[in-house]
Amino acid sequence: MRYISTPSRTKEILEQFGLKAKKGYGQNFLVDPVIVEKCAMLAHCEGAVIEVGPGIGSLTEQLARYATYVRAYEIDEGLLPVLQETLKDYKNVDVILQDFLAVDLDTEVKQLKNKYGSVAVCANLPYYITTPVLFKIFECPEIEYITVMVQKEVGDRFAAKPKENAYSALSVEGQYSYDIKKLFTVPGRSFNPSPSVDSVIIQLKRKQEEIEPEEIKKHYEIIRALFKQRRKTVYNNLREYTKDKDFTERVLAKAGIDQGRRAQELSVEEIKRLCGIVYEG
Ligand code: SAM
Repeated sequence: MRYISTPSRTKEILEQFGLKAKKGYGQNFLVDPVIVEKCAMLAHCEGAVIEVGPGIGSLTEQLARYATYVRAYEIDEGLLPVLQETLKDYKNVDVILQDFLAVDLDTEVKQLKNKYGSVAVCANLPYYITTPVLFKIFECPEIEYITVMVQKEVGDRFAAKPKENAYSALSVEGQYSYDIKKLFTVPGRSFNPSPSVDSVIIQLKRKQEEIEPEEIKKHYEIIRALFKQRRKTVYNNLREYTKDKDFTERVLAKAGIDQGRRAQELSVEEIKRLCGIVYEG
């Protein structure tokens, strides 16, 4: 059997359906069967797994081999007949035509967890919405493992330290809530069409939570507000969020953070402390 991700089979499928990768949807199809299988094998997907953007089904096929159940959200209607054909032998897969950013993920994850015991995410993410997709997944603490292929520049954010250029809200949220490791680098030639930049596969494992999910969501909101305008001080960004000058001054003083600093200079621990103080009010 030739897997979908073999370069020759992908080429045949694209030709059979007269498909061209749509740039606007960030379509780069994986054509490296070894990487695709390793990714699924390492994804901790023995229960249910959610995939964002199945494309023509290369990764979905491997997830179907390792998971009890696969739910894949695809935005491109034109790929549905393709997926019906390529995945027809896998009865444990549901492809849902929906913009992932519009999915009620909390509810879906709770239902899947009740039924299958665990829910993981594994995906080769469309690069144009990588950050909002990850922010959305972070808001579901019940997802224990997230294994995603992202452009190298996004991967670097997860290892970035304060004052580095790559240090951002994504770095802070990621490092706040997950133990993160890079599984491997994926060269541009492993995709059809080949992007000019390399990608990496990152795995995030949720840390034991000390605070309630509702509070964490609020902390994430505060983190994004602190980084909203990178050149502005933490005071200015926070005041814009709280709409309250005195409150902003008070919480920064209580957290021991100088008003003139920028979010990019603050450690994850300092930001965490500040979020807790803002949340308490
Ligand atoms: N998983 C396939 C693979 O690895 O070959 C395709 C990966 S491709 C980088 C990204 C996929 O995400 C495409 O199939 C694209 O149509 C889909 N996509 C883009 N935006 C999406 C969205 N908002 N919701 C769901 N799928 C989306």
